[in-house]
Amino acid sequence: MEEFLQHFRSHSRAEQRWLSAVFEAVEQQLHPLIDASLGLSVARLSLAVLSKVQTAVGGDAADLPVSYRFVSVSELLRDQRTACCSSLRWSSAHYQEHARGAELKLPGYKALPRDNLLLIGCLCDGRAAGTSDGVWRVRDAGASVACAMLKSSCLWLGRLMLFPSWNYIPHDAPAAGYLELLDPPVCVTLEAMAFDPGGALSEVMSVTRAAELLTQRCEEQACVCVSGRVSVVCPPLVIRGKQFFCLVLSEAGSSVPVFISGMVTKILNAEAGLYEIDGQVGLCLAYQPAQKCCGGLRPGAEIQLHNVHFLYRASPFAPHVVLCACLRSSLQVTAFSRLSSKVEVSGSHGPLQCLLLEKNLGASQYLWLCYCQNAVAERLCPRWVRAERVCVVAERLLDFVCDAEQKTQKKRNIYREMIQEPHQCPVTTFCVWWPSAALWSVRQLSDWMRREVWASLSLPSLLPPSAAHMTALELNAALSWSVHEVPLTDVSPEPLLLVGVLELDSTRATLQLRDQTHALSCLCVSTHQSGARTAHINTAWQGCLVCVRRCTLVMERFMKTRFPSWKHLDQPTYITHKHCRVYLQLCVEDLTIISPSAAMSRREKPSDGPESAKRPRADEAPERPLTPAACVSVLLRLESKQGVTLQNGSADALGLQPGFVCRAACLGDVQCWSSDPRNSRTQERERHGDAQEIDLHFMGSCVRWFPVLHPGCVYRIIARNTEDVSVLKAKGVSARGGVTQLSSPALLLQPQWRIHTITEELPDAQSGVPALMSVSEVLHSSSAPEIVSFYGVITQRITLQEDNGTKPKIQSLTAAGDASVEQDLRLRLTVQDAECPGHVIDVYVDLSCGPYTLGLIAGATVSVHHVQRRVSRACNVYCRSLPISCVSVTDLTSVRSRSAVAPSPPPMMLLGEWASGRAQRCVLAQVRGHVVCVLSLRLQWTCSLCGSIFRQSSCGRTHPPCDSTSAVFQTEAKVVLEDGSADAHVWFSSDTVCDLLKLNAGQWEGLQRHVKVKGHVKVYTRGRNMTCDEDPDDAVVQYLSCLCSSTAVCRPIHLTCRLRAQRTGKSQLRKLHRGQTEFICKFTPALQLHCQRVHTH
Ligand SMILES: [Zn+2]
Ligand SMILES: [Zn+2]
Repeated sequence: MEEFLQHFRSHSRAEQRWLSAVFEAVEQQLHPLIDASLGLSVARLSLAVLSKVQTAVGGDAADLPVSYRFVSVSELLRDQRTACCSSLRWSSAHYQEHARGAELKLPGYKALPRDNLLLIGCLCDGRAAGTSDGVWRVRDAGASVACAMLKSSCLWLGRLMLFPSWNYIPHDAPAAGYLELLDPPVCVTLEAMAFDPGGALSEVMSVTRAAELLTQRCEEQACVCVSGRVSVVCPPLVIRGKQFFCLVLSEAGSSVPVFISGMVTKILNAEAGLYEIDGQVGLCLAYQPAQKCCGGLRPGAEIQLHNVHFLYRASPFAPHVVLCACLRSSLQVTAFSRLSSKVEVSGSHGPLQCLLLEKNLGASQYLWLCYCQNAVAERLCPRWVRAERVCVVAERLLDFVCDAEQKTQKKRNIYREMIQEPHQCPVTTFCVWWPSAALWSVRQLSDWMRREVWASLSLPSLLPPSAAHMTALELNAALSWSVHEVPLTDVSPEPLLLVGVLELDSTRATLQLRDQTHALSCLCVSTHQSGARTAHINTAWQGCLVCVRRCTLVMERFMKTRFPSWKHLDQPTYITHKHCRVYLQLCVEDLTIISPSAAMSRREKPSDGPESAKRPRADEAPERPLTPAACVSVLLRLESKQGVTLQNGSADALGLQPGFVCRAACLGDVQCWSSDPRNSRTQERERHGDAQEIDLHFMGSCVRWFPVLHPGCVYRIIARNTEDVSVLKAKGVSARGGVTQLSSPALLLQPQWRIHTITEELPDAQSGVPALMSVSEVLHSSSAPEIVSFYGVITQRITLQEDNGTKPKIQSLTAAGDASVEQDLRLRLTVQDAECPGHVIDVYVDLSCGPYTLGLIAGATVSVHHVQRRVSRACNVYCRSLPISCVSVTDLTSVRSRSAVAPSPPPMMLLGEWASGRAQRCVLAQVRGHVVCVLSLRLQWTCSLCGSIFRQSSCGRTHPPCDSTSAVFQTEAKVVLEDGSADAHVWFSSDTVCDLLKLNAGQWEGLQRHVKVKGHVKVYTRGRNMTCDEDPDDAVVQYLSCLCSSTAVCRPIHLTCRLRAQRTGKSQLRKLHRGQTEFICKFTPALQLHCQRVHTH
């Protein structure tokens, strides 16, 4: 050291200290690298280093760059946690200017911070260490670090170098950072070295000549020199342990070098090798051997690409233009980025690239796979899909969207890909935007639905044709509920897929499709008309990761409105409250399993049919070993299921909680197991014992089982971690005070118990489950019980008026947090017989006492369980729901096909036939007959708010006065119709009277104007004429009388009618006069019909 410091006697203390530090660093880190034979002392080496540093810094030779600190490689790797840059040549102003320039070019990124560090080391390429991997490293005595440089010379190898300007980019992994050398290194020691390829270069042949030689079969080995221009440099490859790369020489001047240059603006997916250049063009490097992390491909780096493929519209999920590098392409960084960026791990063989090789994917498919992998990772990992399995799930989805045949399956020949002309490689065959299926998250779909539900709202379209005649009360009731359905296929022009996990929700008692973004309720049915047991959604679906390509999005709207009349529909201010329910309707058949639940994979194991081959391999499912804990089970067949209602819970639960009851038959005694049998095949012993009838009570969180329990199906209930068989024994339930309430023994389900559907066919599985009645049977069977269960198709849903005050409100107890509460929601569902369309029954359903029932919309096939059959005073049969009632949607075929197939028209009926066969009477039918006479005709302007007669422009009500300014025109006519077999009284209301009277729009309007003067007119038949009580000579009365008796009205007519409530079933006695004699005759009352439609054709 003394020898060294002697040269700097005149320098200050601080400078002396700095010099000592340099000397020590040289001694420790650099001197050991120097070949001892050169006999270079530490002092001399230190002087050489110092002189190079001073030259690099520039300026006065007397000044020492004391602001720079010597850094060893190991120190850099260990202590430098953030990216930084260092340069001996930049002044502060120079650095600032460059940093600002770089930041302006790519807003959003910060420039690399500057550190004044001195880095000196040997450049080596790993040959010494036996790892010649194409990566150069900077080495000192302690450690080495990978480096990337823009230009290199083999003359630099093995020599001690000063690195004047460089970036250091650290990495998450220890000792994995790398250097980006900005300026060429400066040699510290002077050692002459010359490159000698050996041999004489006398015979240099042209590329053309060499190519000729190669095509000739040459026995002897020859060594030749070829000169040409390098036109292609292929990336280095390692095949079977051999590392090599290809280059193509061409005749000088024969081709123009083509390259594309640009700046990396974004790393789209480092693992997948996807980048963005110049803010708009994609760059895919996946077809090249994995880029080493020290590639310098960071945002802000300038690059040059040679021989890359130009792909236009390769995938909707990538930029329009993607440059794709293959084995013939080369990528060169021409300027390192001055910006600081996160360095992402790009494993040398990421799972995506492995898949690319394994499946030989085309570029379009690869880009889709990357998109899919991102979506799965974002939405399902880590809750349902482990990080290391994300790629497997993405691969299955790719298989699902592509037919296996359509994927490139040709065997690759990489030598041809690199060398052959014309060039052929997997990238050359790409598909335009295929696959194009978009994966929406559940949240995305739900948000779309919530926007769509109100965007699609058109108030006039929600109203029937008679809307113009409706009073405010009727109008607002008709607007209070509506439904909007959209098939998933219509949501976007590109095919849409939903991927999520099926789970049971305990607060709503529904099945849900979930991902990490959101959950959507699902109404799951089967398309089998027969309602085969196996087609139902069962317990094994719980936890399955599924893909849905087809389903219906249902949006139910609830509105509170105060429209005075239909004329105000364009003023949304009359809508006082609105909310919606959105959910999916799907068929079990349309669900594709991407990753089965443990129960599902177990269930599928025994079958080896072609269907199971298509399913994912069972070994890929995370099958956990059978839990070796003891448990008890009981096998039972469900016979009936009641609806979910709010019930009195246990003493500790506050107030009410949801619950329901099922009736079931035990198929055998309670069994003990050493390990959980789950849904495995039943054993003989499980079916031995007393076939006892029990009630299963599901309370609180146990209501989640509701959607997967179906009458007729067999289930195994399992209580784990116990050997006590009495746990599953049904007991007589005693209410408070010790009074036994229920006749059957009951079992209260515990939240930790599990239920498994048993899908195997058991000998007596179906017996004991009562068959459902049809609508006609409920209507006509004289022996129908008071509580009936039947099935049919909903043709109409009407929300009944709120009847406030009759029921205590239990809003606070309805599913907490569920903002969309419909208080006291009561409906009238018109259910049509599935086979005989003329037979309809009204079912009054009270939805206020439990979770909302999904899918009660026109066209849905429903099974209605445990409703009360009642007969009105007018002898009409209808049904009323009870707290135990349960309406469930079983089929959606008619909902789906509604647009394609018109609902079957009601049957044609003779009036005599309709009147006589009371028992077989149908409710809705078509009739053809002749209008005999008009019995009465009433025309009235009605106040739309209070229903009083409205004259001119004011309401006629005086006590209290009504200030309404809107009125609706209402009419009613009653005519006698005969068709040769019998007579009938047919009622026409507002929207059909005009058709009955055969008036055109102008005449109808004129009539309305005339009636407005008095507010109302009523004419009726007396004897042979028509008359009026008030003013028989009035022109309107005269006109109507004439009209009603004209042949225009009394004519043959074709109607669709609905049976009207009959006043009485008994015959009437009436006095008749014939001359002087008075007779008393018995008359069968005429058939009373209500016209629903006048067929005009
Ligand atoms: Zn190629
Ligand atoms: Zn009024």
